[in-house]
Amino acid sequence: RLYNEVQDLKGNIRVYCRIRPFLPGQSKKHTTIEYIGENGELVIMNPSKGKDSRRMFKFNKVFHPTSTQEEVFMDTQPLIRSVLDGYNVCIFAYGQTGSGKTYTMSGPSVSSKEDWGVNYRALNDLFQISQSRKSSIAYEIGVQMVEIYNEQVRDLLSSDVNLSALSCFYSPYYVIEKVFVSFDLHTLGIWSTTQPNGLAVPEASMHSVQSTSDVLEFMHIGLMNRAVGATALNERSSRSHSVLTVHVRGTDLETNAVLRGSLHLVDLAGSERVDRSEATGDRLREAQHINKSLSALGDVIFALAQKSSHVPYRNSKLTQVLQSSLGGQAKTLMFVQLNPDTDSYSETISTLKFAERVS
Ligand code: ADP
Ligand code: MG
Repeated sequence: RLYNEVQDLKGNIRVYCRIRPFLPGQSKKHTTIEYIGENGELVIMNPSKGKDSRRMFKFNKVFHPTSTQEEVFMDTQPLIRSVLDGYNVCIFAYGQTGSGKTYTMSGPSVSSKEDWGVNYRALNDLFQISQSRKSSIAYEIGVQMVEIYNEQVRDLLSSDVNLSALSCFYSPYYVIEKVFVSFDLHTLGIWSTTQPNGLAVPEASMHSVQSTSDVLEFMHIGLMNRAVGATALNERSSRSHSVLTVHVRGTDLETNAVLRGSLHLVDLAGSERVDRSEATGDRLREAQHINKSLSALGDVIFALAQKSSHVPYRNSKLTQVLQSSLGGQAKTLMFVQLNPDTDSYSETISTLKFAERVS
């Protein structure tokens, strides 16, 4: 089982690399991908610099550009199952803009099931497994979706923002002031009669879901809200982190014992370096915030991998929101997303260096 493997590795942290294919119209002649091994080896090279530029990296797994959404999910599935056993799980995609983060997490479209990314497949699985256990455990599942932009957390599913408002004008996001990292602070909504549940963002609206189609609806609203922000603020979706949190509560029908698990599904902001000499104003501020939060995330995972006694969760909103699903008994999976082309060589190297530090 994946979990045992993960435990044997580094404090439950698993790192997969996914290389996206060349897109239609992109020149296929030049790639930095030299070799993909069966056991997670990846060799990259800059063709214009020759063999001396060869570098080897090692992951738990490397997915070929031809790997399908289904194949990728097969290696993710055991983690999803463990959410229903009461674990906190965090899955996130890291990489430069255009490297396939959203493709992996959400997919290019939701209309075709084949295209479904990790998010939809994960929720689909959660419902299926919970159904299969319904004679012994009653599960309740709730979702939250927030966006973190310039160190502000916004509710993408706030009831203030409804579909009719979305289609006609830009409605301001509900800005969440409080991010709690303690496990015993708040309960809300469908969870209100229960004990502390480890909600990282208690102010974000929580929505009870009963089926995959409920989830599709909420994710659609969340994505639309993100997109609305994007037109107003210039491609914001690649400059912000989106976090879909699924909370699961299971009640054992015989003993009434309650178990809780959570799943954080994170589409991170693009990791590309913004040229300081070119960026000014808003763009520079965004870049600084992204830089800060991604390095805070790297520091947290690094500290966990080193089994360090101090884990610096407090250094960014992102790590605060994800705290309950990073470290402790939690299981973390990072998708390291790469562009195949040589133009991306230096970003590819910097993405791989980030991954190397945390794996
Ligand atoms: P990001 O979210 O990292 O900015 P996207 O997920 O939007 O990147 O991907 C950029 C483009 O590449 C999109 O057009 C997407 O559909 C395409 N793409 C990404 N990964 C794949 C893949 N594995 N197979 C086919 N197309 C992909
Ligand atoms: Mg994206």
